[in-house]
Amino acid sequence: MADQSFLSWPFFEDRHRALAAALENWCAKHLPVDHHDTDAACRRLVSMLGDGGWLRHSGAGVGEALDVRTLCLIRETLARHDGLADFAFAMQGLGMGPVSLFGTPEQRAWLDRTRSGTAIAAFALTEPGSGSDVAATATLAERVPGGWRINGDKTWISNGGIADVYVLFARTGEAPGARGLSAFLMPADTPGLSITERLDTIAPHPLATLRMTDMVLPETALIGTAGEGFKVAMAVLDVFRSTVGAAALGFARRALDEAVARVKARRIQGAALAGMQMVQGHIADMGVKIDASALLVYRAAWAKDNGAPRVTREAAMAKLYATEAAQEVIDMAVQLHGGDGVRTGSVVESLYREIRALRIYEGASDVQRMVIARAVLGG
Ligand SMILES: Cc1cc2nc3c(=O)[nH]c(=O)nc-3n(C[C@H](O)[C@H](O)[C@H](O)COP(=O)(O)OP(=O)(O)OC[C@H]3O[C@@H](n4cnc5c(N)ncnc54)[C@H](O)[C@@H]3O)c2cc1C
Repeated sequence: MADQSFLSWPFFEDRHRALAAALENWCAKHLPVDHHDTDAACRRLVSMLGDGGWLRHSGAGVGEALDVRTLCLIRETLARHDGLADFAFAMQGLGMGPVSLFGTPEQRAWLDRTRSGTAIAAFALTEPGSGSDVAATATLAERVPGGWRINGDKTWISNGGIADVYVLFARTGEAPGARGLSAFLMPADTPGLSITERLDTIAPHPLATLRMTDMVLPETALIGTAGEGFKVAMAVLDVFRSTVGAAALGFARRALDEAVARVKARRIQGAALAGMQMVQGHIADMGVKIDASALLVYRAAWAKDNGAPRVTREAAMAKLYATEAAQEVIDMAVQLHGGDGVRTGSVVESLYREIRALRIYEGASDVQRMVIARAVLGG
């Protein structure tokens, strides 16, 4: 089993250790699932994670708060066993993040469904012309009697095509740029919403481009205050960016476990590969990167759980470092496997594909560097 010694760090309470042990048992019994049909696998995983009680932690109902350490522990553990299981859990949390943080009691009714695994959630921010540059959001929401008429396109939307409910970000025009956006709760069966494209990637999961054509949402669909959509998105990312780091950490731990097993078993020049100093040096570097990632991820999560109003700098450091380090750890695990490392279907080959997108979504690495530099420079 992967190293669990980090659970004794002071960031955690007994309830976290109990949860990690219970989830480890659950994963050993239920994961990985068959990924052959990605949509079906994701639907099944959401339902399984709901039945197992794990999705309860993905959202916060009235009077509850998200526990970021729990979110991180769950993502790290699921990612170590099955990347798609991590994805299925993460999107229930991110998709409903605006509702958990800012939703009305009526909007929070959706949380009952996403937290029991009977509805699938999605977060629709990116557009063909605005990814890193959220201020360039062009999807337009215009006031009409009783609500909002919405026109525009969203792309790269995880769970697009299988989601039951989306949180949609659109321009409502209170101010220019990022200050004129609002967030809306958009059920998937809203007339005027269509899926115009399904996107394939190197590590398949459900992704789509959406089009809103003269779609009308009621006044009650608005999440938070009109014009504060950017604030909503950033508050959600403040929580979930650390969890992307946690998923990367899970992938990296799995890669190290696979590498350690391989170098102990593989014999070269009559001795185990693990006996060679150069190999030991690589294993040591992998171990250090993993512990440094864990320290940054759980520092950010602990700070948020302990009342820090914003953890933008800590979350950006956690995401940047853990995702970049995981890429390096996984690359070394592939290298230590030799030809078997690039064999289609091997564990390290799939980790090599899984990790890549984490350095791009929820703020690409260079965007995280800008956020960190701004904090360090005091601007
Ligand atoms: C697998 C996957 C899942 C996704 N899921 C979702 C989702 O569920 N919901 C959603 O809304 N979006 C989602 N996205 C979209 C994702 O958030 C964007 O891809 C990301 O924000 C980058 O935007 P972009 O692709 O338009 O790249 P661009 O904004 O064009 O950026 C390209 C590159 O330019 C560089 N760059 C950009 N800005 C700066 C800067 N200011 N300074 C220096 N360098 C910079 C970075 O290297 C960056 O990688 C997903 C993307 C992927 C790949």
